[in-house]
Amino acid sequence: MPAPQEGNDLNYQAISLHSPFTYEGLPTRVRFGAGTRSAVREEALRLGMSRVLVLSGPAHQAFALQLVSALGDLYAGIYDGARMHTPVDVTEQALALLSELRADGILAIGGGSTTGLGKALALRTDLPQIVLPTTYAGSEMTPILGETQAGLKTTVRSLKVLPETVIYDVDLTMDLPAGLSGVSGMNAVAHAVEALYAREANPIVTALALESIGSLAHALPAVCANPRDTVARAGALYGAWLAGICLGSVGMALHHKLCHTLGGTFDLPHAQTHAVVLPHALAYNAPAIPEVMARLCAVLGVDDAPLALYELNTAIGAPKGLRELGMPEDGIDRCVELATANPYWNPQPLDRMRLRALLARAYAGAAPSIDPI
Ligand code: NAD
Repeated sequence: MPAPQEGNDLNYQAISLHSPFTYEGLPTRVRFGAGTRSAVREEALRLGMSRVLVLSGPAHQAFALQLVSALGDLYAGIYDGARMHTPVDVTEQALALLSELRADGILAIGGGSTTGLGKALALRTDLPQIVLPTTYAGSEMTPILGETQAGLKTTVRSLKVLPETVIYDVDLTMDLPAGLSGVSGMNAVAHAVEALYAREANPIVTALALESIGSLAHALPAVCANPRDTVARAGALYGAWLAGICLGSVGMALHHKLCHTLGGTFDLPHAQTHAVVLPHALAYNAPAIPEVMARLCAVLGVDDAPLALYELNTAIGAPKGLRELGMPEDGIDRCVELATANPYWNPQPLDRMRLRALLARAYAGAAPSIDPI
């Protein structure tokens, strides 16, 4: 692992006049804390909503009903059929209900799947959205929407889909099972890690990313050991919020490309795939990003960041490898083909042999390896 350069204090970022940068803030209002869901009516009125369509998934009926009563006369109706990967036919059903109810606002409570449905409706109607996240996926902080139709996933980027208000109520995450909490948190860590070496990386996003990684790395093992630990839950949700800002602010690289390819081609579960691949993708990029590695090591308090993330996976009980997630072994070559056919920008050039080795290790659940170039 590269040692920090002499004179380079890792406690702060040295801003170079020779590296101008662009930062664009995203205009979402956030309320964070325990019990903040009680502010839904106030926030809906603030956005000028008078007839609110509530969106939820099957795990949140009890909370959705609480929101219905908190909304009072602003409540217009509920759609509880949100599904993973935002299928367009589900969006069309919800859209029909929305126009039948003459709703003028959207309130989504759930994980990334429910948030995705709210964003898909906002894309088509430009209605304001309030989101109450219940996982650590981070979608609520991004102007990005992925939709699927006829087995094809397409992504759009538009401020229309960025929620106007996000209410992070720690109480809503208390029942997220330990196993799911851990991998969902690692999904967030992946957003923050890739933001550190994104093509558009800048000091503001880097500061948020490091804070996010520190908070999540500290909180996730405690959440998994005791899912009712409110302090750890607050730390995990705070880290996930910041990771979501990172994901929405800069482009992602090899890690996200591999996960999108694996998810789309082999239908592997989203958060679990992110957790398994992250240490390996970071090890692949490590030789090209010595300063990022030094900062990551500092925030994690280790001298081998990929290994530390691999061990964090063990601590949270993440699946060991892609084999365990159901990927076929001959999928390794397929994934290399697909990931290199239409690649994302990456700090380290893509080399098929090295990518193959990366995926073989991730498949088997082996430890990550930083290969000298
Ligand atoms: P999810 O919303 O499907 O939730 C995963 C599972 O957890 C579901 O079964 C859900 O019912 C359950 N669950 C959620 N919250 C719970 C709680 N508090 N208690 C108990 N069970 C709970 O999955 P996710 O990982 O949150 O999101 C993944 C989806 O989000 C994917 O489709 C992914 O592509 C998308 N995503 C999009 C972006 C973006 O910027 N567009 C970013 C991240 C993720």
